[in-house]
Amino acid sequence: MKKYVYVFGSGKAEGKAEMKGLLGGKGANLAEMTNIGLPVPAGFTISTEVCTYYYANKKTYPKTLKAEVAKSLKKVEKMMGAELGNVKNPLLLSVRSGARASMPGMMDTILNLGMNDAVAEGLVKKTNNPRFVYDSYRRFVQMYGDVVLGLKPVHKDEIDPFELIIEEKKKSKGVHLDTDLNADDMKELVGLFKTAIKDKTGHDFPQDPMSQLWGAIGAVFGSWNNERAIAYRKMYEIPESWGTAVNIQSMVFGNMGEDSGTGVAFTRDAATGENVFYGEYLMNAQGEDVVAGTRTPLPISELAKANPTIYKQLDVIRKRLEKHYRDMMDIEFTIQQGKLYMLQCRVGKRTAFAAIKIAVDMVNERLISDREALQRIEPDQLNQLLRPVFDLHEKNAAITNGRLLARGLNAGPGAATGRVVFNAPDAEEWKKRGESVILTRIETSPEDIKGMDAAEGILTARGGMTSHAALVARQMGKVCVAGCSALNIDYGTHTMSVNGKVVKEGDWISLDGTTGEVMEGKVATKPSEVLQVLIDKTLDPKDAPIYQEYKKIMTWADKYRRLKVRTNADQPDQSRNAVAFGAEGIGLCRTEHMFFGEGKIGPMREMILADSVEQRKVALAKLLPLQREDFEGIFEAMNGRPVTIRTIDPPLHEFVPHEEPAQRALASQMGISYEKVHQRVASLHEFNPMLGFRGCRLGLIFPEITEMQSRAIFEAAANVQLRGIKVEPEVMIPLVGNVKELAHQEKIVRQVAGEVMKEKGVKLNYLVGTMIEIPRGAITADEVATVAEFFSFGTNDLTQTTLGVSRDDAGRFLIPYVEMEVYEKDPFEVIDRKGVGSLMKMAVEKGRGVRPALKIGICGEHGGDPSSVEFCHMIGLNYVSCSPFRVPIARLAAARAALADKKVVTARTLPSRKKAAKRKKKR
Ligand code: ADP
Ligand code: MG
Ligand code: MG
Repeated sequence: MKKYVYVFGSGKAEGKAEMKGLLGGKGANLAEMTNIGLPVPAGFTISTEVCTYYYANKKTYPKTLKAEVAKSLKKVEKMMGAELGNVKNPLLLSVRSGARASMPGMMDTILNLGMNDAVAEGLVKKTNNPRFVYDSYRRFVQMYGDVVLGLKPVHKDEIDPFELIIEEKKKSKGVHLDTDLNADDMKELVGLFKTAIKDKTGHDFPQDPMSQLWGAIGAVFGSWNNERAIAYRKMYEIPESWGTAVNIQSMVFGNMGEDSGTGVAFTRDAATGENVFYGEYLMNAQGEDVVAGTRTPLPISELAKANPTIYKQLDVIRKRLEKHYRDMMDIEFTIQQGKLYMLQCRVGKRTAFAAIKIAVDMVNERLISDREALQRIEPDQLNQLLRPVFDLHEKNAAITNGRLLARGLNAGPGAATGRVVFNAPDAEEWKKRGESVILTRIETSPEDIKGMDAAEGILTARGGMTSHAALVARQMGKVCVAGCSALNIDYGTHTMSVNGKVVKEGDWISLDGTTGEVMEGKVATKPSEVLQVLIDKTLDPKDAPIYQEYKKIMTWADKYRRLKVRTNADQPDQSRNAVAFGAEGIGLCRTEHMFFGEGKIGPMREMILADSVEQRKVALAKLLPLQREDFEGIFEAMNGRPVTIRTIDPPLHEFVPHEEPAQRALASQMGISYEKVHQRVASLHEFNPMLGFRGCRLGLIFPEITEMQSRAIFEAAANVQLRGIKVEPEVMIPLVGNVKELAHQEKIVRQVAGEVMKEKGVKLNYLVGTMIEIPRGAITADEVATVAEFFSFGTNDLTQTTLGVSRDDAGRFLIPYVEMEVYEKDPFEVIDRKGVGSLMKMAVEKGRGVRPALKIGICGEHGGDPSSVEFCHMIGLNYVSCSPFRVPIARLAAARAALADKKVVTARTLPSRKKAAKRKKKR
């Protein structure tokens, strides 16, 4: 019989942490905590296989499940000494979802299940605490009504129907907090809730505990496919096939009075990464009270004063968990009448700042190795370190001018400026229109995920550092100020009043997520710490702790990566920035960008519009010294590092004016008639310029252009070398599909190189190679490599030509295509491994087949995308090249690819004995 249910409790569990796939993250860690002796209320987990079965079989369960659940429930009842539905001695349960990857708040938990009218009365007798009993009962009805029976707000400006009833109750009693309501009030609420459920859904509230239980189990499995779970899975690429587990656990009660409470915590600061216990709790509270923001919770440091015994126990558990899991953990706990229980632990979500600090600190603390540290930082997280912060002068000026609206909790660090919107759908809509928005809510809930994603920053009036808003914002890397209680938000009129001012929808505000300040209007930003050290050189590294951590990570990354990282740059200052970010060369210097520079576009246009070779040569002669100067600047900035320079690539019409006034101006400048200019420009028109007269085709038809460019490159190289700086030019011919094209251009390049070396009396080391960017070039790479000394994949064009998709015209269908999963990712962002990737692989193999030492890189924009970098590592490229700001990301991605590769290789080189034996037999 297949096992579907796994019991935990009394110090022993059938599951363990490694069983996340089967038990979900929550279930596996409840089992693990039980096994290492932490106080966990007994319970059992229904495996994710049941979820899979449920969806594969028209929402039914495996036949044996009922009996297995009943048996497991019996075990738990025995451990707890209480029984579900027993009026004298009732056991109450929580029913909790738990997917393999944590999906915070994505699916709903039901507490106090097993409660009904009779049980409530029995429990009053047993505990002598009617307020606790009816508070638990009303919570149960509320959660069950919402999750199982479907009574929730329908309109975006509406508030929760149960909360509405509670609000009315509080108003009629003239009190503010839930805790001000007494037992009779709670009992009344139970009745009102039941009536509301009956009125709005037509369902009676079920009294039988067993049918309550199965209703709840069904709802958890059902919630795997609710809208927000689907949205969350999309956003975080969680496969639908994983399914969720269901955890059924004995209740412990934080709402039994002032000696009870509930809390959530991180073993370190999840925002900054600091090694301090970081969390919040509320006394006389249950479940989501802390995170939901209905009451603003107390910081965990208060607990140290209020209840030192419990605090010490918690602190011991904190350290124990970090040692055991070797990571920063996120924990949930409850105190029942002075006794501590652990209800959850998982690896804690953190900001990029925190991820980096924690990784570095844990290496120093010898909890993890530097390799593990690298594997724990997503390359894209480094972006957050490079993002701007508020300019302190500007911010202080704003504050002095009375623009400080309020202060909240600094829940998600960074600077954000945007226009206020009051609900998630509006945030999405405004963002689509190109607006920057600050999503402003009383509190956020999982329904708001997409709107939060669309916002620059998130501002809430209620909730603490572990509230939904704070948690999700940190994970998304969003700026967030939470629990800003001075805000009076009115969803109905789309306004908020704060300290005597009124802020309307669409007004600009600025959030400092590092300090928690909320300011009116826009506040100017300035570069991040890392940029101030590396680029602006306005900050001493000693005074830059974040920079220090960045540097450590980069040092480790450089130790393990095999791929070199270059940059795409065509200006000396860009090149210098890239070197500061760790670039080891230039992988693509586009010469055409230079032609737009001052004084250059004129002769360039003359060259293009020339009637004869002679005229063209006159114009080219004007361009030569200008290009040479540009190249000298780049060679100097790169100081001995290799520089790949591409000869002219775009269609010529891109350089000439298309409007009449500009054409007239050009005509008079050149001393020819407007008609002539107009007619020459018109003759450059192409139906499909992407596939037209461009790339090396220009150089074959106008060899004097290649000649001039080669001369500029080699004269610059010689001049710089004569000044004592090493140079390593690599001349790259674009758009080669046929080796003869390359051979034609190569001859020119080498001839000019020879001439220049003779004239200048120097010897230059240089390479001539090509871009592989059209399929024929890749397919005939074995021929191309007989001439090319290096390949560089131009994956932008290679993607366009392989897919037959013009990137400029793809907007209309490509995004829907990704939504429809025709392509998993935008192929212009992430290399399409199956299609484009196969061509690349083929080109590598064929090219190295005839020239084993062939140097191969990539210079398309994919060179800065972590997944594409990984692919480049896998197919054995020598380097990737990307924009300067992505260089650190590529370095980390390359290291992670190399570290991951180790595993792959050992797995392949050490096949299991069984497999090896099988293979032998086959032969
Ligand atoms: P989520 O996945 O959204 O974190 P949980 O399943 O952890 O949801 O449940 C939310 C909260 O409900 C927990 O943090 C805890 O406070 C409370 N809770 C869950 N199970 C129990 C239980 N057995 N006893 C007491 N409180 C519980
Ligand atoms: Mg939880
Ligand atoms: Mg190209």
